[in-house]
Amino acid sequence: MEKQIAVVGAGISGLLDCKYTRSKGFNPIAFEARNNIGGVWTNTIETTKLQTPKPGYQFSDFPWPDSVTQLFPNQVQVLDYLQSYARHFDLVKHIKFNTKVLGIRYEGPSDEEIWSWSLWGGNCEPLSTKGKWIVEAQDTKSLSTEVYQVDFVILCFGRFGDIPNIPEFPPDKGPEVFNGKVIHSVDYASMDNESARNLIKGKRVSVVGFQKSAMDIAMECSAANGIEHPCRVLYRTEHWNLPDNTPWGLPLSYLYLNRFAELMVHKPGEGFLLGLLATILAPLVTFPFIPFESTEMLSYNSHQEVHPNGLIKQYSNPGDGQCRNS
Ligand SMILES: Cc1cc2nc3c(=O)[nH]c(=O)nc-3n(C[C@H](O)[C@H](O)[C@H](O)COP(=O)(O)OP(=O)(O)OC[C@H]3O[C@@H](n4cnc5c(N)ncnc54)[C@H](O)[C@@H]3O)c2cc1C
Repeated sequence: MEKQIAVVGAGISGLLDCKYTRSKGFNPIAFEARNNIGGVWTNTIETTKLQTPKPGYQFSDFPWPDSVTQLFPNQVQVLDYLQSYARHFDLVKHIKFNTKVLGIRYEGPSDEEIWSWSLWGGNCEPLSTKGKWIVEAQDTKSLSTEVYQVDFVILCFGRFGDIPNIPEFPPDKGPEVFNGKVIHSVDYASMDNESARNLIKGKRVSVVGFQKSAMDIAMECSAANGIEHPCRVLYRTEHWNLPDNTPWGLPLSYLYLNRFAELMVHKPGEGFLLGLLATILAPLVTFPFIPFESTEMLSYNSHQEVHPNGLIKQYSNPGDGQCRNS
């Protein structure tokens, strides 16, 4: 009997898995909670652009269309690209939209038997003959649930999805003691563009965090309100913001995405010299990634709060402008 593969999520990873498993002769079924392909790119802030240069964010067998000339396409272009990929490889028919996976469990060998295995699946075969995965999926419109038995499950539900990451605040120190409105960036991104614009217009906004979404939102606030209602950015960890992805005319990624970078990471079985080199060079591994958090966000959307040298003005009190290296 044909083995059944389930994929959870139809963002980039889910699409790739559908295509790959199909190329191996399977007929995958992909469960997608939303009504659309594209994952995070279906719900982004209006001004969000790709922060990875286009050539590094490209399917190897499906180049960007010629009509996209920008090095950092905007969110609409990214979404179009992903959807064309799905259409081109006829993946849409494998996707069950508006279908949320509620739970997955394994039915087969007993726990004792599984614990006795030294090889994955008992025999190192991913598609075991011994057990099945039971996938419970819910139609998000009718709320009816259905159960599927499959041989293999690939989880592609993303890291930056629908569940806001909100810290636990001590009693009387959380949003409840603030008189204004508190929302998470996930909720801001889910709003339609006009509602999002109306929400921030004329307001004094504080953005907590210092990565991609925080920078995009700060830019939108700044563009909407200028210096009249300055936007504050509050953060715990500083990141380097370079205003240019090609400082000194050199593409930054070429500086670290090369064979030399292999020397910066520890590897199994490494000798003394390689180990020493990796220890000394390891801090450089994190360095190149830091600027990308917001490099392009700064360069595509100039506004009053961004200093030409790439520093962001940080206000400790309304109207009290201090320039801080960020
Ligand atoms: C604002 C923003 C900008 C980004 N920019 C870049 C960039 O420039 N370069 C880069 O490399 N990366 C970037 N990323 C990272 C981005 O997450 C990845 O590039 C990529 O889109 C992730 O794809 P994914 O398929 O793994 O996950 P997602 O796109 O998150 O897709 C997961 C899918 O799974 C579905 N799902 C979740 N739970 C369930 C469930 N229980 N049942 C059914 N379906 C479910 C979701 O609805 C969603 O469609 C960015 C992310 C964000 C949020």
